[in-house]
Amino acid sequence: MTTSASVPAGSGSATVDRDTVTDRLVDANEQYANAFVDPGMDARPVLRVAVVACMDARLDLHAALGLELGDCHTVRNAGGVVTDDVIRSLTVSQRALGTRSVVLIHHTNCGLESLTEEFRHELEMEVGQRPAWAVEAFRDVDQDVRQSMQRVRTSPFLPHTDDVRGFVFDVKTGLLREIDPA
Ligand SMILES: [Zn+2]
Repeated sequence: MTTSASVPAGSGSATVDRDTVTDRLVDANEQYANAFVDPGMDARPVLRVAVVACMDARLDLHAALGLELGDCHTVRNAGGVVTDDVIRSLTVSQRALGTRSVVLIHHTNCGLESLTEEFRHELEMEVGQRPAWAVEAFRDVDQDVRQSMQRVRTSPFLPHTDDVRGFVFDVKTGLLREIDPA
């Protein structure tokens, strides 16, 4: 394992080696800001929808769902799991910022499929402390989406739970497959 955060050197640029990945992002932001025009939006998502999805790098939510800037709230974590903190975000999203619909997106070939709750035990053995959080590993992605829908629908904090739909994104085809909540 390497501890270097350097971006792999490109073809010939002498400065690339010194730049960390974060430097590269900051440079990209400068370009972005140069072309940026204030869209004059407020914080309430135009489509009144919150999307909860896995953090997976292969899932480009805006492109995959035809979303534009300002359209939705995006809540992402490992697995797209509906944790207490996701409920916190959804509660703020619905009660303070006007969203009405929730879309849950898990995906094929998720990193969480290769873990078990044993991961917590291994962490405890290594660092001497067991994490307070569950790993939320799973074997059956369809069932995991159903469980996530159930957690949203049964949350006492969310006033809008009649439009909650769950999907599995196929990282090979780019296509969503809807999961029957039953
Ligand atoms: Zn994933």
